[in-house]
Amino acid sequence: MQVVVALSTSDLKSLNHSEATFSSAGSLDVYHLPQMPANRSALLDWAGRSDKTATAVPAGKKISAKVKKTAGGTELEVFESGVRLFGGAGLVILKGSSDINFLSVKRAGASGNVGAKYHGAVALFVKNNHLRVALILDLDKYLRGVLQSEIPASYHIEAVKAQAVAARTYGLNPRISHEKDNANVCDSYLCCQYFGGLTTVSSPSHEKAIAETLGQVLTWEDKPILALFSSNAGGHTENYENCFSDPVTGQFPPQPLPYLIGVPEAEKFAYNLANESDLRKFYSAAPHTVDSSSHHFKWKVQLTADDVEANIHATVNAMMKDDRAPYVVAPSSGKFGHIESFAVTKRGVSGCAIEVAVKTSGGIWKISKELIIRDLFKTPGKKLARLKSARIFFDQTNNEIGHLSAITISGLGWGHGVGLQQTGAQGWAKQGWNYRSILGHYFVGAKIEKV
Ligand SMILES: [Zn+2]
Repeated sequence: MQVVVALSTSDLKSLNHSEATFSSAGSLDVYHLPQMPANRSALLDWAGRSDKTATAVPAGKKISAKVKKTAGGTELEVFESGVRLFGGAGLVILKGSSDINFLSVKRAGASGNVGAKYHGAVALFVKNNHLRVALILDLDKYLRGVLQSEIPASYHIEAVKAQAVAARTYGLNPRISHEKDNANVCDSYLCCQYFGGLTTVSSPSHEKAIAETLGQVLTWEDKPILALFSSNAGGHTENYENCFSDPVTGQFPPQPLPYLIGVPEAEKFAYNLANESDLRKFYSAAPHTVDSSSHHFKWKVQLTADDVEANIHATVNAMMKDDRAPYVVAPSSGKFGHIESFAVTKRGVSGCAIEVAVKTSGGIWKISKELIIRDLFKTPGKKLARLKSARIFFDQTNNEIGHLSAITISGLGWGHGVGLQQTGAQGWAKQGWNYRSILGHYFVGAKIEKV
């Protein structure tokens, strides 16, 4: 099965390239279609057709592409060693038998003038007046570039296999759809999962996991599921709707997903972590769960009132100016005064904070959603970009006039904790579970099917 991966700029923040330059150790065939296919599947159909005519570009020659402004809008221009090959509307595909070096983009692991390196066909087209670059390749070759950065090769093979199936599924159905980009998925970890192309070399364990699960994806009602995963769930995974908003409407909570429901990470589990007193007991007892040996399992952050006050005003202001604004509710005064206290006012089944109330002299501010709550405590002076998770509780002291003087944030795990958690998968694998049982545990009721 072929997939389309939208390739981002060197900083992984945008899909819009100002220019794109390529070379290859072998010759490249350059195909041109005067009309951009309507969608991803039409693009794949055309790319796979054998009746196309190509211009052959010899090995080692540079091919570059950019968008030219015209009276009527924009057009795509493609050059070979500075000489124009094509100009106009449509789609250009580069295909060769050797790897393609994407010289104008750098990726971790790429050195010198190599740029990023890919195996597959490169599609160039214009979208909203910007140059887009997408890679067309086999799903399992895409997965090879993903696994290296997503799970350590030293993990138990059954845990790596579970991760392989989850990552393969995610590639087909990322949380934020890339259909508008004529792609299945993008290569940035800021948006989807990191795909470094051939600059990330796969290990034998990753290869084995891919081969032994070849083409397998998780499905629900015959469609790939939203196969979310994270690092360490702190003893219990979380329901989807308690952590994420609807990717299309922004609605929070979104419609629940039947297969993304929180599960305990021990066969016997006597705590109701949605209840703060149980969460505190669980934290101090540190009972044995399959993920509890990780150093991310249990952590503490201690901040003074000065640490918090020096940053939280700017953080909340920034949130109110961007796409996080719907999750920040100001008191009627609109003022963020001196902080008096923090309290978690809603929790999910893993203990994950869904809503935090910040009592200030200007009134009570309400901040919701996992990642936004984690961001609220950003403290650059203490090298804290965000909390490791939102499975937290607060212990605080106040001064004689009732203002906060210090706060300790105790937390469990690292990441959102929805779906598969890697240290948990490792724990279950060590107890003898195979990847099918592990996936069945984290994606309740989902099937494993071959695409
Ligand atoms: Zn993406």
